[in-house]
Amino acid sequence: MSRSLNIVNPATGAPIRKVPMDSSASIDAKAARARRAQIDWAKAPWKVRRDALAKFDALLKAEKQPLAKLLSLETGKPISHALAEVGSVTGRIRFFIDHAKRVLSEETPYADDSITERISYDPLGVVANISAWNYPYFVGANVFVPALLTGNAVLYKPSEFSTLTGIKIADLLHRAGVPKAVFIPVLGDGRVGAQLIERPLGGIYFTGSYATGARIAASASKRLTRVQLELGGKDPAYVMEDADPAIAAVGLADGAFYNTGQSCCAIERIYVHKSVYASFVEAFVETVKGFKMGDPLDPATYIGPLTRPQRLGFLENQVQDAVRKGASRVMGGRRVSKSPGNYFLPAVLTDCDHRMLVMREESFGPLIGIQKVSGDAEAIRLMKDTDYGLTAGVYSKHFPHAKTVLDAMDTGSVYWNCCDRVSPNLPWSGRGHSGIGCTLGVHGISAFLQPKAWHLRRP
Ligand code: NAD
Repeated sequence: MSRSLNIVNPATGAPIRKVPMDSSASIDAKAARARRAQIDWAKAPWKVRRDALAKFDALLKAEKQPLAKLLSLETGKPISHALAEVGSVTGRIRFFIDHAKRVLSEETPYADDSITERISYDPLGVVANISAWNYPYFVGANVFVPALLTGNAVLYKPSEFSTLTGIKIADLLHRAGVPKAVFIPVLGDGRVGAQLIERPLGGIYFTGSYATGARIAASASKRLTRVQLELGGKDPAYVMEDADPAIAAVGLADGAFYNTGQSCCAIERIYVHKSVYASFVEAFVETVKGFKMGDPLDPATYIGPLTRPQRLGFLENQVQDAVRKGASRVMGGRRVSKSPGNYFLPAVLTDCDHRMLVMREESFGPLIGIQKVSGDAEAIRLMKDTDYGLTAGVYSKHFPHAKTVLDAMDTGSVYWNCCDRVSPNLPWSGRGHSGIGCTLGVHGISAFLQPKAWHLRRP
């Protein structure tokens, strides 16, 4: 009997649809089809691949409203955030289209009268793209757009929490001219993902949690399959004594609570210099009180439900642990039990310290811990007291001062007076438990190619 995914609206708990999951046999058949189709896709002129991805971009623009609505319905993402995601993914696609041809070009690093040394770049073949639900357009496109442009075929497994969006992405790519056998959705939960990565693959490109990433790396190591992992974070920000606390509070509240706090690079812990601590906390709480929680389809909603119901208990446990150890719960911090759906009241905890789970394990929800510090040395020590290494930020009026802290961070990205920001022009990477490899920027295009060295001696 074939298994199904039950797609549920996280704002109401109401079922939306059942979707059949892939089986081991259907994954085998899809992998074989993709292997055959990839050869012609890689040989196709650049223009064929470029035009298909440009058409995909145009379809996203034309169908932005219904696509955002579907995303909001199945993940609970506030509609204004869903529209922003579908609207700005097109900037990433443009970046990849504008730069991939150059990355694919052959190079001749050496030539003399008798020998020429040349480098060409081959695609990897069939790659698996195992994706997360929190930004399915962003994290999906970071992988499948450069993979397709560089001549790979993609077996795409959307998250079980954003499957309908995944099916829609496949439909748009096929309508845009990407052959059906070159981009194939593989549908199901983690068990399906685990079966998929056991197939012969040119690479596994994963976005998700550290725990799953570590399992995937262990499984792939037996076959020596190339693995790229974009994982979670416990991203810190430090408000220096020379920062404007009101400006920092507005920026950091948005960084912590945007997308209901379910962003890989959400601000997860804040350190504030003691001289501006009180005014920062006051402005921060005022800002969070202004965030409207409600129906994700209401354009005024800023905080929606959590996408996964299991996370309600997880966040409540972090709050209780912190309060038990001496934190002050200034607002929120418990589920809304009166209404249906996975609603959690946005939580601000102050007087936190590193004995508390909220300062150590990824919250990935509308919850923030704030800790007072006496100066830069203490802030640097605390910011670095983590296994993760995705981003770190500093608010300060003076860049040279901020830079002394940012230089000390062992993270893939650093921010000065901003946070929770990703740009297609810059490489996006995590260190430590935040991942291996890199998406975006030109590095995120090379990630789908393997070099071939040509030693050419004249006869
Ligand atoms: P998750 O690890 O639960 O699942 C991610 C994907 O892996 C899903 O498609 C799931 O079905 C699949 N999967 C689960 N077990 C598997 C297995 N054994 N083998 C193969 N596939 C398996 O993560 P999630 O809840 O979807 O995403 C949230 C996490 O993702 C957070 O930690 C967040 O920080 C991180 N994230 C990171 C980035 C980044 O760019 N660094 C971006 C978005 C999300």
